[in-house]
This record gives sequence, structure tokens and C-alpha cells, in this order.
Amino acid sequence: MCGIVGIRDAGGVSFSLYFALYALQHRGQESAGISTFDGTRFHLHKGKGLVAEIFNSEILNGLEGTVGIGHVRYPVKGANRPENIQPFNFVYRDHIISIANNGNLVNDRELREEYECQGQIFLTTTDTELIAKVITEELSNSGCVEDAVHRCMRLLRGSFSVVMMIDGVLYGFRDPLGIKPMCIGKTGQGVVIASESVAIDALGGTLLRDVNPGELVCIDENGMRTMQIAVAERKAHCIFEYIYFARADAVIDGALVYDVRRTIGAKLSEESPVQADSVCPVPDSGTAYAIGYSQQSKIPFVESLMKNRYMGRTFIMPSQKEREMAVRIKLNPIRDHLKDKSVVLVDDSIVRGTTSRRIIGIIRDAGAKEVHVRVGSPAIRAPCYLGVDVPTREELIATERDEEEVRKRIIASSLHHISLDALVEAIGIPRKDLCMGCLTGCYPVDIPGEESQFSRVDFLTGTYQTKLERYEEKDSVPCEKDSEGWI
Ligand code: AMP
Repeated sequence: MCGIVGIRDAGGVSFSLYFALYALQHRGQESAGISTFDGTRFHLHKGKGLVAEIFNSEILNGLEGTVGIGHVRYPVKGANRPENIQPFNFVYRDHIISIANNGNLVNDRELREEYECQGQIFLTTTDTELIAKVITEELSNSGCVEDAVHRCMRLLRGSFSVVMMIDGVLYGFRDPLGIKPMCIGKTGQGVVIASESVAIDALGGTLLRDVNPGELVCIDENGMRTMQIAVAERKAHCIFEYIYFARADAVIDGALVYDVRRTIGAKLSEESPVQADSVCPVPDSGTAYAIGYSQQSKIPFVESLMKNRYMGRTFIMPSQKEREMAVRIKLNPIRDHLKDKSVVLVDDSIVRGTTSRRIIGIIRDAGAKEVHVRVGSPAIRAPCYLGVDVPTREELIATERDEEEVRKRIIASSLHHISLDALVEAIGIPRKDLCMGCLTGCYPVDIPGEESQFSRVDFLTGTYQTKLERYEEKDSVPCEKDSEGWI
């Protein structure tokens, strides 16, 4: 997880980057940073905490330039240390490179070791620094950014959605399977690359399209060029983005997340109808699902849990005890809505089961006589190696338990998880193009000790010999330019 953004705008970028990161705050709350280029120098500011805590107008005024990148971090790999806060700026020969990434590599150890055997050192424990090394290594050979990205796509195994700036040219690229989201948008006189379309919305811009898996996008003063660097026989969009991670108002790989969740809610009602007085969401992640359930079942949608909006996600609390306490502070029951009532409680997922058990306890304590739990994802049975913070098999409530055993543990009157078929249908993307590792234990990349479904990746040939032709004619997507030369 993590959120990334890159913007080129003749009117300046620091405030736009700030607002875009604000819109992507749900993707990471540990730290954030912005790097800009003013034509001669880079400006960088980053810190721990939320976007609103790290930046103010004085800082943003100091981040001069017409091109920049930004990052919000949710640590999956790499300790919570100041040196791991992105973007990273590197000086390479006469070039200044700024880079930020959302994803998780599974062959990082091997790659790191190879570099270390050559005597190279690392300043951080992040994948992003490793990606920068791969890039500069290839730049030292060919001097060409497309070749460097080509090399990344060949060498890196796992998920990566990268924004990068080299001497004021903005680049974005996405791994050949398109595991993590990345899209392109247009604002008044600028171009935006971002993890989710909500960042483009926040700037009053228009979503143009998703960055294709294996594609490189390059934005400079002439406009935008795109190059397809690698083509895989399948895609592997993260299913958890739709279930939980992305904002409901985001459009990811063509699907509006809110409608996906609402459709899942309706399908939950078809798969597992129940007689009840009300449908109550676990706010906020269960809301769209609950609306779908209510619309389909005709059982009234009644909010019966109020969320304290000034609290962060409970998952982020370091220990189990703190997580359990946090749920109580976070959610307060509306007793009048619950007393002697039979309630359908709808949430997006059950991971460890702590939250569900606590919430059901709160609802029962408030007087509900039955709590029927409906869940917008199938049981989560396996860890994620590709960037979502899903814990080990031992911590997952559903690893060794069937639905009835989970029901007993969370003390629900009944429990139903959406079926995988219904989930895939609601997303509207073919099953083969989704990563469902956390649900099936089968991953789209090779992970030692785990089952994987290998996918062939073709790298466009002739890159080295016919770079100019490939760049200008064959693979670039011509963009319509307006009077100022922008797409
Ligand atoms: P629990 O079952 O106690 O582990 O908590 C599950 C709840 O946490 C779900 O209902 C989601 O709303 C939320 N959640 C699920 N996965 C994550 C994640 N990777 N990071 C943060 N929150 C999550």
C-alpha cells in the first residue's frame, strides 16, 4: 500500500501535490513527502504523520517548480524510520533523480544481495531505493530511461507503481501485471499521474485512463508520450483494492469502486437472505456494501454505529490489546436503533476477526437480539506478499476455520462471506486478470513456498536498436494536444 502522485503544471505543483496527497491519505498515514524541480534545483520536504501535519503554506511555497512527485506511506516492508520516507532524491552523474513507489517486491533480497556483493551500499530498507539502483545501473549502460524501465520490468518481481522525475521530466510506470493501481489525468494546464482517480478529482481534473500494466508514461514540456515496455499474458489487479483499500469514489482499472461494493452488497443479499429489522454498515468501509444489501433485500438501511472520525484505522495500532481498545473509542452504538432488534451487520472483510468480534459485542451490549454478519469478501486465508498488510496465516481467523467456526468465534447469529464468483462478477474484470492471492493462496508471481500461476511476460523487442522509431512511431500513443501543447 502507499499512495503516489506526480504532476507537471506550468502554474506550479506544490499545492496540487499537497491536495492530491490529501485525497490519497487513506493509502498511508505513517509519513508523506513532496519533491519538486524548479528547472535548476530540487526541493524536498517530508516527515512522519499525516499530510496536514507535515506541510503548511510556508513549506509549500518553498517547494518551487512546475514538476513534482509525492508519496504517502503505509509501511509493509522497511521499518518506520525517517530515512525510509519517500520520495528519495539521488544525484547520478549530472542528473538529479527523484523517485517514489507503491508496491512490494518479492525478489528484493536477491537483488539487494547482488548489489551488496558488488560493494554497493543502501541507505534505506525500501524497495524504492533498489528500483533506483536498477534504473541508474541501466542509465550508466545506455543512458536511456526507457531501457532503464525495461530493465526494471525484467528484473523486479512483485508489484510496483513508480513515479519518477529526472531533471524535470516526469515518468510513471506500472509493473507488467498491473498489480497496484495507477492512472493519468488532466487538469487545466497540467497532467497528473496518481494511484487513484480521487487525486485527480481533488484537483478538479479529468481522469484520462489507467496506466496500462507494463507501460511507461513520460511527461515533459512537449506533452505526454506513452510506451508499452512489457506485455504479460494476464493482468493481476489487486482484488483487495476493490474490497477495502481504495476509496469508494475511485475508478480503478475501469471499475467504480462504490458500485462494485454496492453490487457485492446486493449479491450478498441474494446469496444469503435473512429476516431482520435493519441493515447496518460497519462505517465507513461497509457502507456501500450495506446500501446494496438494503436495496436488494428491501430491509431498511439504518446506521446504528457512529464512527469517531478523528481516529485513525485500528489496524495501525501496534498491539492486539491496543487494537481492541481502539475499536471501542472508534465506534459508538446508537442504542435506540439496536434495542431488541435483529440486525444485518455488513462489513468489507474479516481479517484477524478482532474488529468483528468487538463490534458484534458492542451491538449486543446495546440490546440487539440477533446480529447477522454479511461480509463483502470471501474468507481471507493467505498472506499478501504484494503490498497489502494482511498478516501471517497464524493470525488470520479463517486460515484453519470454516465459516461456522468463524461465526462462533465472532459470536454472530449467522455469517456469510460473498462467494468468489459473485465478487469477480461484481468487479467486472475477468478472474484471470485479478490477483486473489489473499483469498485463494495462489499468487500471480513466483513466491518460494507458495502456489503460483505463472504468467508469461513479453518484452518488446528491438528496443535497443530502434529506440527512436519505437519511441516516436510504433509504440507511442499520440495524444491530441491543445494550444499549449498539452494532451
Ligand atoms: P480484523 O478482522 O479485526 O483484523 O479487522 C478487519 C477490518 O479491518 C476490516 O473490516 C477492514 O475494514 C479493515 N482492514 C482489512 N484489511 C486491512 C488492512 N490491510 N489495513 C487496514 N485495515 C484493514
